[in-house]
Amino acid sequence: MLRLERRNRELERMVAAATKVRDHYVDLYESAPIACLTLDAKGAIADVNLSACSLLGLERGKKDHRAFESHIPKEDVKYWRQLLKHAKQSGHQQGCELTLRRIDGTRFQASLEIRYAEVGSASAISIVLADISNQKRREKDTMDWRKEMAELRKMQIAAQTATAIAHELNQPLLAISNYSEAAVKFLGAESPDLHKVTKAVQGCQRQAHRAGETIHELLDYLSLKEIQVEAINLNEIIGQVVDAARSEHELQFDSVLLLEDGLPPVLANRIHVEKVIFNLLRNGIEAMHESEVPQPSITVTVYTKGDVNSAQVTIQDNGPGVKEENLQQLFKPFFTTKVKGIGMGLAVSRSLIEANGGQLWIDPSEGPGATFHLTLPFAS
Ligand code: ADP
Repeated sequence: MLRLERRNRELERMVAAATKVRDHYVDLYESAPIACLTLDAKGAIADVNLSACSLLGLERGKKDHRAFESHIPKEDVKYWRQLLKHAKQSGHQQGCELTLRRIDGTRFQASLEIRYAEVGSASAISIVLADISNQKRREKDTMDWRKEMAELRKMQIAAQTATAIAHELNQPLLAISNYSEAAVKFLGAESPDLHKVTKAVQGCQRQAHRAGETIHELLDYLSLKEIQVEAINLNEIIGQVVDAARSEHELQFDSVLLLEDGLPPVLANRIHVEKVIFNLLRNGIEAMHESEVPQPSITVTVYTKGDVNSAQVTIQDNGPGVKEENLQQLFKPFFTTKVKGIGMGLAVSRSLIEANGGQLWIDPSEGPGATFHLTLPFAS
C-alpha cells in the first residue's frame, strides 16, 4: 500500500514536471516573434501564436477553427492547394510567397514555410509566416529605379549618337559651304573661269558623298551590325588622307611620312581607318594652328609591330601637346578644350579602332607635340 502511494506521488511529480516543460514550450510558441500556425488535416486553424494572431488580425484565445483558406485570395486558392498536396506527398518543407487577407480585409505580402507533421494518428500542417510587404516594396522600388536608369541610359546613348552624327557631318558640310561660296564667287567674275567652277562643284560632290557614307557607317557602327572588313594597304590610305586633310584645311603644315616598305595589308574597314586618321590629323593641325606654331609639322610613321602581328601607326605633331591633367579624360565622350569642339572625335575614333581589332592611345612621354598610336591586325 505504502509502495503504491509512493509510486503515485512519483507519478504526480513526473506529470507536474512534464506539464511545466509543456507550459514552457507553449509559452515559447505563444510569445515567439515568428508567426506560427497549425492547421488540422482539413486545413482549419487549430493553433495560432500571438504573432500570427496580430498578423492575420485574429482574436487571441478565440479558437473558431476557421479555414486558413479564408485568408487566401480566391485567385490563389488553387495554387495553395497544389502546394499543400506537394508538401504532403514529398514530406519536405515547402516555401512560397502569397498575398494574405487579414480579418478586416486588408492584404499583405507573406512568405510561408509549410510542413506536414503526424500528430498521433492525425496529420497536421505547421506554417511559419512572415510579413514581407516592406521587402517587396523595396524590391519594387529597386526595379523601378533600374528601369529609370535603363531609360536614362537609352536617352544618353541617343544623345551621344545624335552628337556623334552632328560632329561627323560638320566637316563635310563646312567644306560644301566653302566650295559653294567659291563657285558663286567664280561665277560672279566678268569672265568666269569654268575650270575653277567645275573643280569647286566637284569638291561639293565629293563632300556630299563623304557625308552620306559617314552617316551610313556611323549608323551601322552604332547599331552594332557586323562591320565590313577587307585587306587594305595602310601606306596608301595614309597618303590619301594626308592629301585630303591638306586640301580641306586652309591651314598649311609640313608632313613627313615614314612608311615601312612592303608593309603587309591590314584587315579593317577602310572608311573607319580613313576617318580615324583624318580625325587625328585634324586635331593636330588645329592644335598647331591654335598655338601659332611657326612651322607646323606632322610626322606619320607606319611600321610592323612584330610581336602582335599588327601594324602600328604613329601620328606626331609639333603643337603644344596635351596637358597632363587632361590625359585621363581625352578619350571620354564630350571632353573638349576647344570653344566650338564637341569632344566626340577621339571617343568615336577609339571605338572604331577597337571595333576593327586594334587599339588607339596617346603616348604622353613622346614629344614635341601630341603623339598618338594606333594598331590594326594584319590580314594574314
Ligand atoms: P574635339 O576636337 O571636338 O575637341 P576630340 O575628342 O577630337 O574632340 O578631342 C578632345 C580634346 O583632346 C581636344 O579638345 C583637345 O583638347 C585634345 N587634343 C586632341 N588631339 C590633340 C592634339 N593633337 N594636340 C593637343 N590636344 C589635342
